[in-house]
Amino acid sequence: MQLECETCGASLRVEADQRTAVCPYCASPAVVERAPSNDRPSPHFVLGFTTTRESAQGAVTAWLGKRSLFVQSSVKRGTIDAIRGVYTPAYLYSAMAQTRYAAQIGEDYQETETYTTTDDKGNSVTRTRVVTRTEHRHLEGQHATYVMDVLVVASRAVQNAELEAIEPFDLRTMRRYTPAVLSGWVAEEPTMTQPECYALARREALEKIGRDLAGFMPGDSHHGLTHETRLDQETLELLYVPLWVLAIRHDPREPPFRVLINGQTGAIHGKAPLSWVKIVLAVLLVILLIAAPFVLAAARDRDPAERRGVARPPALVTAPAPAPTPAPTERVRPGGSRPTPTGGTR
Ligand SMILES: [Zn+2]
Repeated sequence: MQLECETCGASLRVEADQRTAVCPYCASPAVVERAPSNDRPSPHFVLGFTTTRESAQGAVTAWLGKRSLFVQSSVKRGTIDAIRGVYTPAYLYSAMAQTRYAAQIGEDYQETETYTTTDDKGNSVTRTRVVTRTEHRHLEGQHATYVMDVLVVASRAVQNAELEAIEPFDLRTMRRYTPAVLSGWVAEEPTMTQPECYALARREALEKIGRDLAGFMPGDSHHGLTHETRLDQETLELLYVPLWVLAIRHDPREPPFRVLINGQTGAIHGKAPLSWVKIVLAVLLVILLIAAPFVLAAARDRDPAERRGVARPPALVTAPAPAPTPAPTERVRPGGSRPTPTGGTR
């Protein structure tokens, strides 16, 4: 029987007697029955659960207690609202990769150089020392490799980055898919298209090639590594990976948040809601700590000015007294008795 979540778009495959009323990914009750479609690829492999529900619960309780200071205070007292084991669809990608690369390789060598300095008596002396220098040379070449075991998510309900956060899975325990393996569990049909998953997988493959190339560059150092890869013989095989999906309720007024656990290794990933009040207070505290020395210095500088300010009033009182200026009218009168230039010409 197939069910579809109207909230996150997950497409769930359950047994007829196992009617799940809520979506295992988003805890939404908006799950509707959907007719099975034939355009979906059939699964190739399954990785079974090797951790128990109880161990997943214990791991999450420990994880909640270790969250950073900046999460909402209620998170540490959060309770597990729901825990569900889900077989989540993922694709296993492999390809032949032909890579052309170029880089500047640095080779270190040591050289003895002479230099002039002054000794403790002030005399100019010539001494020698050993220095390390780097010689750069251009290197380019081709590298062929078979990229395999690139795992990307095929469910719209889980982000590829979330899956990456709890990888790796132990692919040695991979079994051929049979419906019996999924019996009793909820499994999701792939909800992402193959082209979308190819794009995710190629990006991961190229990142991996870049890391590998950087790792086997010769010399003591390198820089300016560039590479261009052609991928051939690509395959994409549908695989079910085991995930414990937990809904954590930390505040009755807020929706629960989600935590994912690798059903094989117990690796955990989740984003506990942050407390913006705490973050803003911490930022203010940091600003205060940075600003404190300047504020104190400014306060010290202002003190003498204030003392001068106190001394100023007597000066203001005595200033007008010693120099009384003559009244303007006294100056006008002598000028007025002189003949004006216009009056003289007349
Ligand atoms: Zn959902």
